[in-house]
Amino acid sequence: MRVAVIDRDRCQPKKCSLECIKYCPRVRGGVKAIEILEGDEKPTISEELCVGCGICVHKCPFHAIHIENLAEELKEDLVHQYGVNGFRLFRLPLPRAGKVVGILGENGIGKTTSLQILSGKLKPNMGILDRELEWDEIIEMWRGTEYAEFFSKIADGRLKVSYKPQYVDKLSLYRGTVADFIDEMGVEGKGLEDIMDRQMNAVSGGELQNIAITVAMERDADIYFFDEPSSYLDIKNRLEMAKRIREMASEKMVVVVEHDLAILDFLADVIHILYGKKGVYGVVAGAKSVRHGINLYLSGYLKEENVRFGEEIKFEKHPPREMEDREELISFGRITKKYDDFELEVNPGSIYRGEVVGVLGPNGIGKTTFVKILAGILEPTEGEIEKKVKVSYKPQYIKAGEGSVRYLFDSNREKFHSLYKNEVLHPLGINELMDKEMKDLSGGELQTVAVAFSLSMEADIYLLDEPSAYLDAKQRMRVAKVIKRIMEKEAKAALVVEHDVYFIDMVSQSLMVFSGEPGRKGVANGPFSLRDGMNLFLREIGITFRRDEESKRPRVNKIGSTLDRQQKSIGEYYYEI
Ligand code: ADP
Ligand code: ADP
Ligand code: SF4
Ligand code: SF4
Repeated sequence: MRVAVIDRDRCQPKKCSLECIKYCPRVRGGVKAIEILEGDEKPTISEELCVGCGICVHKCPFHAIHIENLAEELKEDLVHQYGVNGFRLFRLPLPRAGKVVGILGENGIGKTTSLQILSGKLKPNMGILDRELEWDEIIEMWRGTEYAEFFSKIADGRLKVSYKPQYVDKLSLYRGTVADFIDEMGVEGKGLEDIMDRQMNAVSGGELQNIAITVAMERDADIYFFDEPSSYLDIKNRLEMAKRIREMASEKMVVVVEHDLAILDFLADVIHILYGKKGVYGVVAGAKSVRHGINLYLSGYLKEENVRFGEEIKFEKHPPREMEDREELISFGRITKKYDDFELEVNPGSIYRGEVVGVLGPNGIGKTTFVKILAGILEPTEGEIEKKVKVSYKPQYIKAGEGSVRYLFDSNREKFHSLYKNEVLHPLGINELMDKEMKDLSGGELQTVAVAFSLSMEADIYLLDEPSAYLDAKQRMRVAKVIKRIMEKEAKAALVVEHDVYFIDMVSQSLMVFSGEPGRKGVANGPFSLRDGMNLFLREIGITFRRDEESKRPRVNKIGSTLDRQQKSIGEYYYEI
């Protein structure tokens, strides 16, 4: 089966010389395999007439065309197609009563499309594009499968649906207080009592996420969808959120898209992996147990389906923090900073050249304040920093500016170090985004651009605040690699504030731990070795991790389980490989 997709955002017939049509051997032979149809300004490929030579793919200057040859048997499994040369989704995840079903796959592969179909927001067309199908016809096509029953309930409204959307930032546009919003949504807002009087545009991202999750959970429904519930939450909140969702699932159907794999592991019962080609097609693989599913995803190879879909992601052993042979970049004695309502106390520490320091701690505990002191932007109340360093900063919340991605990088060229093209833009896939307007980027694309921008800057210390938000698991691993390489090659250091344990495990050689009471008092300790830092941090939140034998990835222990009790008794909160 041939799938031809034209990315209509990329295709710019006014700026090219219609190379796709000019060089097509079929067109030259008089067969209109690709042509501009009447009433359209962009070309259309006829999948029947095209022979799949791939010449147009290579000739198009904007890389707008994709041609894929897929296994013939997939044809029967086409669930939805966005237009003639549009993205195709094959098969669907299956919601189950009493279970949390996880969906795992890179961005642009059809996760949201799947959720929208399962929630009844998008009626699947089964690849039929010339008319709208009736629900009866759709259900008939699924006859004899569990989907027939599921969609007959969706079709006549017998399944009530609740949906937590992906981007919670948008809730800050709401005019009014949290209480007004909760009222309008018709729910109680349990657990939000402390922030009820605050304006929606004045609460943090983590609080917006909490509000959105609470609203979705309290709605009376039969099936619940959560699209990326962990963004902006700290580790403790993520685990609490996962627990609440699990508890609710005992009598409902729950479907979750989540890229924090430690959380997904804890949250889901079964997993559907989506593979295919970003923006071209996605195939939903059959359900796997959560442990096996995540291991398969990390291995990049689906055994049962015999599909390779990416590079293997490996977890490595962390050596003790032996920095004797490394040069110190900056060291600090005891520092404090006092505001009217908040006080930060930093205990002495040193940061070395070439190292990536993971920074753990809840929001509002003084992490940004500390880095601003390092950068000399803020004066400490007590203590001082001898050597001021230049800091490049990627804030937690990012807003798209005006202009294209190319303009952003071109107009700041003189601020960048010499490795930025090869070691940052290229491995992060920024070149493919160059022609897009900043405001048209997806959340994940915008995050990647922001991370790439700050890593391109000439600086001594790079502070990245939650670089993983909205990135898929694969892109997180790529970002981790790029951060590490830049620090090693440029002999600089990075402080990475993160709540995704797998990301922390991959990116950091050492850890700083911020504890205390958010918004009132913060105490910073470290940097320590990863193991010591994790032990300190996890002891405070009372969670232990074991290692998966096969993939070596960390897995959360059930509180009170034999392993949890054993590890706590010997102080091994974070089991090393
Ligand atoms: P994911 O949630 O995995 O990031 P989506 O389901 O949002 O992926 O989208 C998959 C692909 O479908 C996108 O890459 C995009 O090309 C295409 N797509 C999504 N929505 C539409 C739409 N409304 N019209 C045309 N194409 C769309
Ligand atoms: P984090 O980076 O860990 O989220 P911050 O360092 O941004 O934390 O903030 C820590 C605390 O200090 C917060 O309660 C914040 O409200 C307070 N704070 C930050 N900057 C100021 C300031 N200029 N004046 C008064 N309080 C501030
Ligand atoms: Fe031009 Fe490429 Fe569009 Fe063809 S597909 S019209 S070559 S931009
Ligand atoms: Fe023509 Fe080959 Fe492109 Fe098909 S793949 S439209 S045959 S150039």
